[in-house]
This record gives sequence, structure tokens and C-alpha cells, in this order.
Amino acid sequence: MNSMKAVVKRDLKGAVLEEVAVPACGDFDVLVEVLAASICGSDINRYNWESGKGPYKFKTPMILGHELCGRIVQTGACVTHWEPGQLVVAETHIPCGRCYQCETGNSHICAGVQVFGFHTDGCFANYFSFPSICARPLPKGVSIEEGPLMEPLGVAYHALSKSNINGDTVAIIGCGPIGLLAVQVASSMGAAHIIAMSRSEFKLDLAKKFGAGHILDVARENPVEEVLSITGGQGVGTVIECSGDAAAFTQGLKMARKGGTFVAVGIPKRPLEVDVAGDIVRKELTIHGMHGRHMFKTWYSITALVEQGVIEFGPLLTAKLPLEEFEEAFSLAQSKEHLKVLLIP
Ligand SMILES: [Zn+2]
Ligand SMILES: [Zn+2]
Repeated sequence: MNSMKAVVKRDLKGAVLEEVAVPACGDFDVLVEVLAASICGSDINRYNWESGKGPYKFKTPMILGHELCGRIVQTGACVTHWEPGQLVVAETHIPCGRCYQCETGNSHICAGVQVFGFHTDGCFANYFSFPSICARPLPKGVSIEEGPLMEPLGVAYHALSKSNINGDTVAIIGCGPIGLLAVQVASSMGAAHIIAMSRSEFKLDLAKKFGAGHILDVARENPVEEVLSITGGQGVGTVIECSGDAAAFTQGLKMARKGGTFVAVGIPKRPLEVDVAGDIVRKELTIHGMHGRHMFKTWYSITALVEQGVIEFGPLLTAKLPLEEFEEAFSLAQSKEHLKVLLIP
């Protein structure tokens, strides 16, 4: 076990499959054999990045990938709470442990955060070494192939935990993997009414199956008018914006009720113009940004949720390819017909 295959981002568009050294297991690390990894929207951004084009300034060469499930094969000299053979998933953000945020209970927004596959080599490889504090046990009832989805589930849960949605109305804009997980989390948190929005019929059908009482095809319907009509002119208590689409973001501000909450999850590609007076100030709208998952409160919450069996990962896994076919996997992950695409090393 000296070398392995890895999907390496070099200074070009796309990535290349290379034979590289198996990473060393540091004193505080765990070395895992990667059993399944999933492609995230942020991996796609890095994959498509080309030197000098776009905002993704990270050092290359870099092994891509952050969402994984693996089996521990080695533990570092100072690691006492993990053993070889254990199945793990991972918190994909490595906190520095020393900044203001880390020292005041907010390490998920660490000022010096390092993200797998972005600041440090990632998991689209046969083996992956990472800090043992980021390892989490694969929850009971979650299969190896579903394991990588614990990380995006954490994002969805963290977004919904920014507002009190119990017994209230929620609009979820964008039905990619995070939006569809958000529908399921909102349902489990006791939202009285969930309105899901997307441009894809197949994704809207899933949103309905996962508990959305209303689905809106934003390619054909005006989402602000529809939400106001569904809510008797009031607007919804909480908006979870997962699309990152500029127009959807401003529509989301308009469909929130007075005194409501707007949670920004998706990342617009450019600065936006918003009606601050009408949509924020006079409305007394609460706006939350969010990043990643709370370390590690969110992990306890989502583990409890999946162990109750209220989250369905299966329908979100729309393709599974061997690591060698990563190019096809990235192309599927960018097509409208797919949600999560798995890479199996
Ligand atoms: Zn991710
Ligand atoms: Zn920090």
C-alpha cells in the first residue's frame, strides 16, 4: 500500500487521474480507505476552474473531493478514540482551534478554516488522511453509499436551525441535494406547510414525496405571486434560499412574511441589488448567512434524525461510477437529470 489512484486538479480545466503516494497519517490523523465519495456543487466549481479564470484560487496540484465514507486503516500516534476497521464519515471543514470564532464556540466559521479538497488534499482517491477530530461514526441505518450525504444533510439542518419553523410556513428555493434534504429536515422539524421551488419536474416530484405541500415550477409560475396567494397574502415565515440564483434570491426576500426569516445557503456568482427599504428594513426581516455545519452540535442532531429513519437518501443518489470514470461522473453531476453522483474508488 504505497501508491493509489487520485483525481488531481492541476493547472487546467477538469482534472486528471494520477498514481500518487498514499498520504501519511499524521500524529492526530486517521487514514481511511475511501469506500464512497460524492460530488458536491463546490467540487464542480473547482473542477471547472481554469488558471486565471474564475474565483477559485487554490493551490494546485490538489486531490479533489470532500464528501466521503471510509474505513479507518491507520490511526495517528496521538489518536486514542478511533480504531482501524471503524466506518466513518467526515466533517469536511478543519477548524484552526485558535481564532476568535474557534475559541468562542463557533469553529464552523473559523477564520482560518481549511476545507478538504480545497486547502488540503481531498478524498477522490483510494486513501485519505484527515484530522481525527473531523471523523464521525457512520450512523446506524445509513449505508456506506449514503454516508457521504451526511455532510450536505448537515448543511440543510444547520440552515433550518436558524429559524423556528415548527408549525409555520417555509419556502425552500432550489431542489438540488441540499434543497431536497432541507425539505425532509423541515418536515421532520414540524413545519406546517412547505413550499418547494425548482425548474425541474423530477426534483419537484421528489420534493412532494419528501413532504412539500406545494411545489412551484419557477420556469412557468411567478414564485412570489404564488407564495403570496398560497399564504393568503402574508408570505412565508421562513425562506431557505438554496439555489444561489440571483433572481431567486431577490424573489426570496419578497416572499418572506413581515417579521420573517431569510436564510441564505446558495452562493450567487456576483453581488446583488436588493430593495433594502421594502424587503428588509420595513419588513423587519431577519437575514442569516450560514456556512457548513455547527461543530459538532449539528452532527449530533443529524445523527439522531437519520437513526429515527426520517431521512431518505436513496432517491438522491442518482448515479454511481468507479473513480476511474470521474470525467463522466462530473458531467452527470452537472446535468439536470442528476442529484448526487457517487464515485467508488
Ligand atoms: Zn459538500
Ligand atoms: Zn479557527
